[in-house]
This record gives sequence, structure tokens and C-alpha cells, in this order.
Amino acid sequence: MNSDILNKRINELVEHINTPEKRKKKENSNLKESIYTFTLDELKEWLQEQGEKPFRAAQIYDWLYNKRVKTFDEMTNLPKQLREKLKERFALSTLSTIVKQESKDGTIKFLFELQDNYSIETVLMRHDYGNSVCVTSQVGCRIGCTFCASTLGGLKRHLLAGEIVEQVVKVQQALDEAGERVSHVVVMGIGEPFDNFDALMKFLRVINHEKGLNIGARHITVSTSGIIPKIYQFADEKLQINFALSLHAPNQELRERLMPIARAYKLDQLMEAIRYYTEKTGRRVTFEYGLFGGVNDSIEHAEELANLIKGIKCHVNLIPVNYVPERNYVRTPRNQIFAFERALKKKGINVTIRREHGSDIDAACGQLRAKERVHETR
Ligand code: SAH
Repeated sequence: MNSDILNKRINELVEHINTPEKRKKKENSNLKESIYTFTLDELKEWLQEQGEKPFRAAQIYDWLYNKRVKTFDEMTNLPKQLREKLKERFALSTLSTIVKQESKDGTIKFLFELQDNYSIETVLMRHDYGNSVCVTSQVGCRIGCTFCASTLGGLKRHLLAGEIVEQVVKVQQALDEAGERVSHVVVMGIGEPFDNFDALMKFLRVINHEKGLNIGARHITVSTSGIIPKIYQFADEKLQINFALSLHAPNQELRERLMPIARAYKLDQLMEAIRYYTEKTGRRVTFEYGLFGGVNDSIEHAEELANLIKGIKCHVNLIPVNYVPERNYVRTPRNQIFAFERALKKKGINVTIRREHGSDIDAACGQLRAKERVHETR
């Protein structure tokens, strides 16, 4: 794809532009496509078109994902003329780091700038089981959940697959200095991954590929607000990837209040899709349930939730609400969180409470971007 086509494609991806002056640069700039967008087979195809040997694709992948070079010139086992072609055709870096904040608990939050000046967040979280990267799938979001900072300002554009892959590569490069590895990836940053489904699937294939970042499917989690047709499509892919649904309410009425998407995709049909997923894949689903003080956090709600998901192979992850200044929700008191958890356990439901990461550095969904890039989120 040449740069004119890429410029056009990026323009098509932009839903509404809140033109800060800088963005005008985009029309003139000579954008190149991120090499991280390409699967191994696609690279082979491109090489063949160029009259090059297809085995070079594996060599390039090795430089990209094992050696993690930052320039094409470092790809020393490629002929110079091929390196020049690569330079001309692809970008090796389409994200630049604007902010890198480290929290006391080891969480690192990155604010990256894209080629067209929009910004996205990526978070590295340290767990006892490994290092997990939370990636963004869209610039902004159009789902409109009433508690979420990512949706402030709506959707600006979808991310390209390479822009999602590159988030993981950039974090891995930062970890390389300490000799550490990204072991887990969660698609739980800004955006609705199932609203950018094709790019999501490509991203998953690249990071999962044994010659790519080789992150095991069981170490990858995708979370959705509940776009039903895509749940069926995802189930039919029969991947071993972990799947999470942001449920947040035990009944239709309350879910509609919290998540406008519930008006389009009704809870009963959603549960049917979830059952289809668990049956088709044999895998369990994780229900994310944010506890919003006085809204959905009573014992009655817990019991209603237990009844709703009874018989589904699942696990519930309770999320104490992250305070978002623009939103009116308050935290459920700790003892109430534990009471909610107990009520679910009593009904035989598997449940955990999400640990907080980086609360001293605005690590909750979309907060850093909302603070640093006010023009993008208004
Ligand atoms: N769009 C996807 C991916 C976002 S994942 C989805 O909806 O699943 C981020 C998770 O954090 C989702 O479960 C989301 O509902 C939740 N979340 C968003 N804002 C929150 C807040 N202020 N407090 C607690 N959880 C929040």
C-alpha cells in the first residue's frame, strides 16, 4: 500500500475530527504503513512480489519480534538493497512516547502519539504470574458506557492492527533493558475491540504467532461490552484466547442505564451468545462486574446476578469502580464488596476482586489521555 492509499485509509478511519491545528500535518505527511501490521504470510507475499526470497520473511520477523530492533539497518543478515526497500515501504515505528509514568507498584503507563497526532494509552501491569500489557484498540470509543473515561469525546478512529501490535512491542522494548518479558496481553484499554474486529483478529494472530511475539493464546484476554454478532464470530474462530464480557448489571433495565449498548443488544440475547461461546469453544467466560456504589452493588443484585449466569461455565471479576471526575459514580465500601463476593460464592459462583494497579498514576482506563489530551476527549 503506498502512502497515498494509507493517508486515504487513515482518513476513512477517522470518524469525526476535532481538528487541533497540528492534525493538519496529516494531509501532507508521507505516512508509511507499520510493518507490524503484516502477518508472516503477507510479508512472504510482499517479498515474492518484490522478487525476493520468501524465507526472508522469517528473518524479518526474527528481527522484529525476537531481536526487537529499532531500525531496518540493524537487520544485518538482509541484503542492503532489501533493507532499503523495507525502509521505503514500511515504518518500523509509528508510535512515539509522549508520557511514560511509573507507579510505586511497578505499573508503567505509556501515552503514545500516533502518526496523525492522536494519542492512545498502553499500560504495563506487574503480577506475580508475569508482566501483562493492556492495549488500546481504538482512539476513543463510541459505546458510551456511563462510567467510562474512554468514551468521553466519542470515537476518533479505529486503530490499525500494526498500531495495536506496536504497543506490545514498545512495552517489550522498554522491558528488554531489565531483561524482562511481556507474558500476558489484555485488550482492555481504550476502545471496543469488537467494534474494530478485523484489526483485532490480525493483532491477535501476530502476537500469538510462534515466530511473532509468541504470546500464548491462554495468556491473551479480549474484553467486550457485548456486540452480539461479533461474539458469535469470535466463538466460531475457536481460539484458545480468554474472553471477558463487561456485564456490570444483573438485569436489562439496570444494564441499559449503565451501558447504552444494552438497548441495541438485549441481555437475554447476550446471555444466549455467551452460552454459544462457552459451548462452541469449551472455554469459560469471565464476567466483569463493576461495583458502582448504591447502583448495582446490593446483596439482591448479587443474587440476581448468580441466577442470571447459573449453569454457564464462568468466572466473575468484581471491579471496584475507578473514580472518573466527569462521571458521578462512587465506590462501593470495602465491606460491601466482600459481602457481594460472599453472596456470589454462596451460590457457587467463581469470583475474584480485581486488584488495583497504578492508582497513583491515572492508570484507570482512559484517565491519562483525558488529562493530558483534553482536546481529544471533549
Ligand atoms: N470496551 C471493552 C474493553 C474495555 S475493558 C469492554 O467494554 O469490555 C475495560 C473494563 O473496565 C471494562 O469492563 C469496562 O467496563 C471497565 N471500566 C470502564 N470504566 C470503568 C470505571 N470507571 N470503573 C471500573 N471499571 C471501568
